[in-house]
Amino acid sequence: MLLAQTIVSYGLIATKSSTHTKHHNRVRGYSWGFHGDFRNIAVVSDRQGSHIGMNNQVFDLQTLAKFEHPQITADGQERAHVALSDPQTLWFNTGTLCNITCENCYIESSPTNDRLVYISHAEVRDFLGQLKERNWGVREIGFTGGEPFMNPEMNAMAEDCLSAGYEVLILTNAMQPMMRKKVRSGLEQLQATYGAQLTLRISVDHWSGALHDKERGIGAFERTLEGMKWLRDTGIKMTVAGRTMWDESEEQSRAGFDALFRAHGFDIDAFDPGQTVLFPEMDANADVPEITTACWGILNKHPDQVMCSSSRMVVKRKGADKPAVLACTLLPYTDEFELGETLEQAESPVHLNHPHCSKFCVLGGASCTA
Ligand code: SF4
Ligand code: SF4
Repeated sequence: MLLAQTIVSYGLIATKSSTHTKHHNRVRGYSWGFHGDFRNIAVVSDRQGSHIGMNNQVFDLQTLAKFEHPQITADGQERAHVALSDPQTLWFNTGTLCNITCENCYIESSPTNDRLVYISHAEVRDFLGQLKERNWGVREIGFTGGEPFMNPEMNAMAEDCLSAGYEVLILTNAMQPMMRKKVRSGLEQLQATYGAQLTLRISVDHWSGALHDKERGIGAFERTLEGMKWLRDTGIKMTVAGRTMWDESEEQSRAGFDALFRAHGFDIDAFDPGQTVLFPEMDANADVPEITTACWGILNKHPDQVMCSSSRMVVKRKGADKPAVLACTLLPYTDEFELGETLEQAESPVHLNHPHCSKFCVLGGASCTA
């Protein structure tokens, strides 16, 4: 049977076909579900067994590698996608500059990496306006970096979000950028006005100083503890983000954090995964399976459980005129996950075409907003 349709998309006249010649057996069963976003349409040539994807990129169906084609997996199945079904969190990347260089920083931040530049107060305001217009129903605004308190407008951006009624979560190492006098007095005012509406999530890679410092440099643990003590004394709500790369079970890890928090009087529950978030490691080179639409049933999972169903991240790339909206916080440098310049454009579904999607989100079950 030959079923051919013609779709005009971005100036391309595209023919899609379900002709199952020898060449096309690999795509048999692919449902061609485009879910309303024609920018992502893949086009099949029924003569050569190749696909033309966005930007006229040609894919050879015979030799598709894993995570190569946006919508088709290497074994010819429909790649899983996730709709923005319930937006709960809008993240802003404040810029990739950081006061330190950690060994395994997923965003490669450092005192010199400014691939993502400081987002401005005015740009955040513009997105708050868009949130209203689009009626997303977001409850929380998250700020991540780099080190967010390197951005001179961090407190002003937080205040705008808090005064608009959002909960604000700032991810920080609680070191010197946060401890500058002006920043501290701004935070004191925010705490006095907005109380528990503001949370700072502190990166503490491991509950022991030795392993934390192995990642972050000698003395980092003590400086972070100083910051946390100041936050404790100021009454600012704190949570912690740790990592699971150590040779210990989750129970051991949580018990270690519990002892640390008790020793310093930190009001953080080490056994609550929302207050002490333990992140799995992300290794883009690990050999992980691709997620197909069939996987949801097999794994007994639902797309709504994956982060990109409930959040987006705004970034400002170096040299760009305007910020861009990305599918999530985890893939800041992968073009395919850049959805547009506006929240409206960012409402399109996300195809899970990256090892992080499999390892970190679908199989690992991680969430940045837990
Ligand atoms: S403190 Fe955070 S942002 Fe800075 S280098 Fe370390 S992991 Fe990256
Ligand atoms: S890494 Fe996770 S949140 Fe990001 S696009 Fe993939 S599945 Fe979605």
